[in-house]
Amino acid sequence: MTTYASHYINGQWVTARSKETLPVHDSSTEEVMATVPAGTAQEAELAVLAARAAFDAWSTLPVETRAAYLEKVAAGLKARTDEMAMAIAREVGMPLKMAKTVQVGGPTWHWGNFAKVARNFEWEKKVGNSLVVREAIGVVGCITPWNFPLSQITLKIAPALAAGCTVVLKPSEIAPVNAMILAEIIHEAGLPPGVFNLVNGMGPVVGEVLATHPEVDMVSFTGSTGAGKRVSELASQSVKRIALELGGKSASVILEDADFEAAVKGTISACMLNSGQTCSAHTRMLVPAGRYDEVKALAQTAIAKFSVGPSLDETSRLGPLVSANQRARVLGFIRTGIEEGADVIAGGAEPPAIAKGYFVQPTILGIKSTDTLAQEEIFGPVLVVIPYKDEEEAVAIANSTIYGLGGGVWSGSDEHAMKVARRIRTGQVDINGGPFNGNAPFGGYKQSGNGRENGVYGFEEFLEFKSLQLKPVTAA
Ligand code: NAD
Repeated sequence: MTTYASHYINGQWVTARSKETLPVHDSSTEEVMATVPAGTAQEAELAVLAARAAFDAWSTLPVETRAAYLEKVAAGLKARTDEMAMAIAREVGMPLKMAKTVQVGGPTWHWGNFAKVARNFEWEKKVGNSLVVREAIGVVGCITPWNFPLSQITLKIAPALAAGCTVVLKPSEIAPVNAMILAEIIHEAGLPPGVFNLVNGMGPVVGEVLATHPEVDMVSFTGSTGAGKRVSELASQSVKRIALELGGKSASVILEDADFEAAVKGTISACMLNSGQTCSAHTRMLVPAGRYDEVKALAQTAIAKFSVGPSLDETSRLGPLVSANQRARVLGFIRTGIEEGADVIAGGAEPPAIAKGYFVQPTILGIKSTDTLAQEEIFGPVLVVIPYKDEEEAVAIANSTIYGLGGGVWSGSDEHAMKVARRIRTGQVDINGGPFNGNAPFGGYKQSGNGRENGVYGFEEFLEFKSLQLKPVTAA
């Protein structure tokens, strides 16, 4: 077990003031694998003031210098990939091999990519008699969740630092070990004191200081819609910039002319990744009513391949859920679905036969578009299948939740799929299983949020506009 006793403030590991600690559980064994200190409001404030003091010098460095720091962090992450993947496999529960590519490989690439984005960015532009310049927004408070923890941290702090902002990070209290390793890497990369700070702790304590402190210029939040609303309300009192990346209930729409086998398999994979603990997971599969039985058979065949087991077991394709709370929540939803009359296509609320760990069977339920499970974000390995009568109804169902994060459309022709995709009110739609693109904007419509991450779109979130009005030159 690792005991972390410090926060990272002003370029140093500072011993925590409070003796209170937060346990981090290995989700496959339920053992406490680490503890981190429960940060106080005073520690959060110290970190904010350190970030404020560092801002002028950092934001006025040449872009090339900041980009070179980011590349050092990327190299540090690469060198510690195995250790980082092991930490995330244990604290989150994603199978190790997958964690290495998805949870560590992805963020490592983004650190290098944001260095490139900053170098190639058009920092100033002439518009009529004005010079429009882009400047760092200031001190950014970053609040992140546990499901893709290093990725969510990276997509905030890498672009923020590249833009010239200084940051205070409050990682998830449920999976903070990866953030501690990252802070060590950042320290070794030699960033000036105060540019990056990390305070562990609970949202209502440390997070709310970041949301309210007058010296914080922007809050970048990823997490549940409920907590995002609270952060947004608090931050609005000091008119901070707010970027929110929130929950989802994304639909995979299978059109009548689709390759059903590929579509059902692709949807199940896009739902079950990370045991369904993915904000943009395709958790509703919309299928033509007349093809329901065919879909059901295909889904049963496809889901049988998702072997459930501990994250360090090489044969596991699905790991446990992150915590006992998350498991209880997900099982509660499965029971609600069954009580409301769901057709149990696969899985159910009985635990799989594994002695320890927060496991839930991969579950597929046939439901109606008016059922509870058609609306609520479950955040577990649960796919619902909803029949529709025609394309019009499919689009209406896809758009019928408070969320608008992702989704997919499957059709025999990309043109047909794109026509339907344009009518879906979400920030991303995968056409016939098109893969994730780290340079394309990722973010939500409606109550899935208002921010965008990835590439130049994610970078620009951390910039202000300034217009320098020049006096027009008059002819002599
Ligand atoms: P959560 O909202 O419980 O916690 C997220 C973070 O917010 C944590 O660091 C937490 O400590 C902090 N927090 C909680 N209450 C706070 C408060 N009052 N003030 C300030 N900070 C507070 O979410 P979670 O359970 O960690 O993550 C799962 C949720 O995140 C899901 O709803 C998922 O859809 C969402 N998510 C969204 C995206 C996206 O990009 N849209 C990505 C991943 C996860």
